[in-house]
Amino acid sequence: MAREVECDRTVIKETFRKLGEINFFSLALPRSHGGCGESVLSSVVAVEELGRASAGLALLFIENIVAADILAYYCAGPIREKYLGPLLKGEIVGGWGFSEPKGGSHSNAIETTAVRNGSNYRLSGTKVFITGAPIVDVMIVYARTAGNKLTAFLVERNTEGFRFTREEEMMGLQGAACGELQFVDVRLTADNLIGEEGDGVKILNFVAPRAKNYTAAVCLGVTQGVFDCSLEFARQRRVHGASKAGLELVQKRIARIASRLQAARWLVYWGACLQEKGALTNLEASMIKSYLSRVALETAEDGFRIHGSYGYTRSCEVERLYRDAIGLQVTMMANDTNDGIVGAALLDRS
Ligand SMILES: Cc1cc2nc3c(=O)[nH]c(=O)nc-3n(C[C@H](O)[C@H](O)[C@H](O)COP(=O)(O)OP(=O)(O)OC[C@H]3O[C@@H](n4cnc5c(N)ncnc54)[C@H](O)[C@@H]3O)c2cc1C
Repeated sequence: MAREVECDRTVIKETFRKLGEINFFSLALPRSHGGCGESVLSSVVAVEELGRASAGLALLFIENIVAADILAYYCAGPIREKYLGPLLKGEIVGGWGFSEPKGGSHSNAIETTAVRNGSNYRLSGTKVFITGAPIVDVMIVYARTAGNKLTAFLVERNTEGFRFTREEEMMGLQGAACGELQFVDVRLTADNLIGEEGDGVKILNFVAPRAKNYTAAVCLGVTQGVFDCSLEFARQRRVHGASKAGLELVQKRIARIASRLQAARWLVYWGACLQEKGALTNLEASMIKSYLSRVALETAEDGFRIHGSYGYTRSCEVERLYRDAIGLQVTMMANDTNDGIVGAALLDRS
């Protein structure tokens, strides 16, 4: 199923609509903002389940939740009126444009500019590795405004100068449909501003922790997927007439996957509880995302070993999960960078 969906854009759009119908994108948003007012944990568990089915697609769906959160909390007026409802209903696809050719880990690398002229802006620059680049309808784009300050804008795909230039051929996570977008002298008005001019860092601090915890939930789904297929394979596969399940080393690998999975699960759910209380910071979220993606990769390695040669074939779930787990090491900030944030904060060097 995941393999079919990953290549078919029409199926992706259709899945968006269906998820919108069951309130997937609005689950944890308070009722006062047009959401269902359910717990953050319920939303995180929903993302985990999607990650189990297709990590690439789950990343795409997170973008919509994040875009809707930003609109709900930081926008008022026509832009919110026009886009929040359709984002929550899955009628349109939202994207997040931070990473640039000179680096995706730090805002220092952002060279996209939005030059003000009266109440209008001219946006110019390039964003890379943008999830959903071929299909996004609206993008939250980070740019430099007067005084070198970071400002976020909402940019509509049909605006003149908005160009989709390339889709990346990735090792895994194909459903995420990552690609390059160029903004060539795109004309924006003050209505496109998210928050106030210069609010970019504030919005980043709001959104990065929740986006990282959702990405960790995707990693959890991948780890669960590895556990499921490895358990099944070990039970069914017979070697020299005996079940693989009887082999001590296979039992040890299954035990290792199971214990890591459980520890990882509590860590992500802890992140959800912190977010619920408004206490999830970049420190915890970076720790959680980095750890969870490492667990996904380590367990994929164990799962692959259990599968033997079959694990190296496209017909095996674990082959896809392994490739996805590698990609998750650099999604939503490279792990080294996330670890850097944690270490620096703990050592008072932020
Ligand atoms: C599947 C996928 C989806 C993505 N979706 C999006 C998206 O929708 N929107 C978006 O804006 N971006 C997206 N990205 C980009 C992603 O966030 C960046 O790839 C990531 O932040 C790393 O940036 P970079 O590749 O430019 O690496 P760089 O920033 O160049 O870092 C490369 C390496 O340098 C080292 N390094 C750099 N900085 C530090 C530091 N401060 N401390 C320690 N080591 C460091 C690390 O080893 C790091 O791995 C996506 C990427 C992938 C793979």
